[in-house]
Amino acid sequence: MTQTPHSILKDVFGYHEFRGPQAAVISALVAGNDALVLMPTGGGKSLCYQIPSLVREGVGIVISPLIALMQDQVSALHELGVRAGFLNSTMTAQEAWQTELAMHNGELDMLYVAPERLIQPRTIELLHQVKIALFAIDEAHCVSQWGHDFRADYLKLDMLQREFPNVPRIALTATADVRTREEIITRLQLENAQQFVNGFDRPNIQYRIQQKNTPKVQLLRFLRDEHANHSGIVYCLSRNKVEQTAEWLSAEGFTALPYHAGLTPQVRQKNQNRFLREDQIIMVATIAFGMGIDKPDVRFVAHLDLPKSIEAYYQETGRAGRDGEPATTLLLYGLEDVVKLRQMMSNSEGSEEFKRHEQQRLNAMLGLCEITSCRRQTLLRYFGDTLTQACGNCDSCLTPAQTWDATEAVRMALSCVYRTGQRFGAGHVIDVLRGASNEKINSFNHQTLSTYGIGKHIGADEWKSIIRQLVARGYLDVDAQAYGGLKLNDSCRAILRGEDTIQLRRDIKTSATSVARKQG
Ligand code: ADP
Ligand code: ZN
Repeated sequence: MTQTPHSILKDVFGYHEFRGPQAAVISALVAGNDALVLMPTGGGKSLCYQIPSLVREGVGIVISPLIALMQDQVSALHELGVRAGFLNSTMTAQEAWQTELAMHNGELDMLYVAPERLIQPRTIELLHQVKIALFAIDEAHCVSQWGHDFRADYLKLDMLQREFPNVPRIALTATADVRTREEIITRLQLENAQQFVNGFDRPNIQYRIQQKNTPKVQLLRFLRDEHANHSGIVYCLSRNKVEQTAEWLSAEGFTALPYHAGLTPQVRQKNQNRFLREDQIIMVATIAFGMGIDKPDVRFVAHLDLPKSIEAYYQETGRAGRDGEPATTLLLYGLEDVVKLRQMMSNSEGSEEFKRHEQQRLNAMLGLCEITSCRRQTLLRYFGDTLTQACGNCDSCLTPAQTWDATEAVRMALSCVYRTGQRFGAGHVIDVLRGASNEKINSFNHQTLSTYGIGKHIGADEWKSIIRQLVARGYLDVDAQAYGGLKLNDSCRAILRGEDTIQLRRDIKTSATSVARKQG
């Protein structure tokens, strides 16, 4: 009885058509070739190895770091009549032995195994005794030392090529900038793999990025006006802020639960289960939340802090709208985010090269925040995927950003940074520009500077926006050691000398009144 991929798709999985590159990936593997699949979360990666595991003789070995999900995946396969098992550290020796025996007797179509288990000599020996259909390396970006999902055990997976040279391998990931992709290829020795980069566009997700002015008001309006009865995720950078935000949202009448690595596993599990099973739950979380979470009807993802990279932003926003129905994402970001992330990165452990790489990734993210053209086009271009036309479903497309000739104001800001000695943060520089009188200004005698009060006519929020854009574009540097002090970068010389003009984005004003009215 030989079954074709298409008949298995129908008879076993109950679907009628392959999606995106699935058919092509599957034929590559069935033919015995290696493949590298870059497909976003929810794109349908699983079938890419599940079907070839069933078509090819022997057992398909799936390497996954998400041991918490193995049981679910295996149970789901059992429901479909697929003979699947798993091996990981959560099971008893007895259970593991039974699974091994089943595999040895040729009674398994698929085996899910944790990387640390796979690389044990005992497991490798066992695998040599059976016929293997393929190796699937899921979450392959875990080989990347630059990513936050790095697993040292993944580096040892290069032994698959040496130990089992004739078994086709497929590596899969949803997270792949060009550099991570190259790393996967070299580390897993997938030089001959066919590459499939596809389907990164999530057309039902609306992207919005706004200046963070009054974040609570902005978030409340977003939730009340658009998502009153929905489930969604609110990401924050710190555990503290997660706690505070969850409490505050609860006091505002929402069902908001915290999730971060500082909570006990029991609490985390409980909150996660409620989020998965109940309606209208807001999960307030750090990035610890979400990997492998499959909740189809997440209607919104809000970021109260800037993600570290476009990959992170894409992955986190990608948890919205997996059912294909419209979903919205809102990122609020401000100068303080840039300062904080730059400081965290430069104070982190790691080589200079690592830090430089992190800063570059942050710069790409800042670029996405500041562009005035279609966000989706920029986002997709970053992953090597293309969108030929502006999307019509991001804030840049829906409410085209205004730009203005900010040369005059920028010169004021830059000279004020210079005159105050290149060691103060944005708050103080803005106070000086606006001619404020306070103790700090007095104690440094800054009221006597030529730049004191020259920027009165521009509001404090606008100044914040200007300085943020100058930092994002690299005209101003942030001193990572000294409380975010601003410094001139060489690149701003031309503007200071009057040789260059500069256009800046005019941030959309968020009015506090509309929410206040609603609340009242
Ligand atoms: P990923 O691993 O890429 O995040 P999954 O493999 O979990 O995605 O697939 C996401 C969802 O899409 C699942 O519910 C899966 O059953 C469904 N799916 C995958 N391929 C198809 C298809 N060809 N037709 C219909 N549904 C599909
Ligand atoms: Zn767009």
